[in-house]
Amino acid sequence: MFIENIRPESPRRGFIEVICGSMFSGKTEELIRRLKRAIYAKQRVEIFKPLVDQRYDEEKVVSHDDNEIQSTPIKAATDILLLSHNIEVVGVDEAQFFNEDLVEVCNHLANRGTRVVVAGLDMDYLGAPFGPIPKLMATAEYVTKVHAICVKCGALANHSHRITQEETLVVVGEKEAYEPLCRRCFSALYPPVLNPKDVSKSKCDNTDVK
Ligand SMILES: [Zn+2]
Repeated sequence: MFIENIRPESPRRGFIEVICGSMFSGKTEELIRRLKRAIYAKQRVEIFKPLVDQRYDEEKVVSHDDNEIQSTPIKAATDILLLSHNIEVVGVDEAQFFNEDLVEVCNHLANRGTRVVVAGLDMDYLGAPFGPIPKLMATAEYVTKVHAICVKCGALANHSHRITQEETLVVVGEKEAYEPLCRRCFSALYPPVLNPKDVSKSKCDNTDVK
């Protein structure tokens, strides 16, 4: 389970935490909870979010339940490096909207001793891994996957089903545009295109991986 950073520690060790899941899963609430605790501990905290996310407030990370925290909107992941000198804890919200530079940026920060807490959607509305999140999950020390509740059956939901006709990948998420669905209810709407028989016929090339 997730382990909170303990201070004082010398030399200070950096690491990456990823909080991921579908929409309405409480990612931002969990990000805010962790960052507020760091602020209470008098650590130097800076929070960033992509400029594309202007849902509620330009300079605040705001969750669906109106919990909020001051943040800096930035255009590119590399801006984080310019704006985080002497910062002990870096938070990133809506991380799926950044490109893969974010992976390198987060690892650079962690390597130099910064605690990096990243929140983002793990899958897009079609169920495909979203932006830099998969690589961040792979390189993070801690990954917390949170779930919403399926609106059709009440099970744990891991999909953000888009209920509008928009086809662009980046539709900034208003509540009315999406609903959380579980695997079963989502796959009933989007039957998998992969045929399991084809998979069993294909040779596994990873058998010599040590
Ligand atoms: Zn369901």
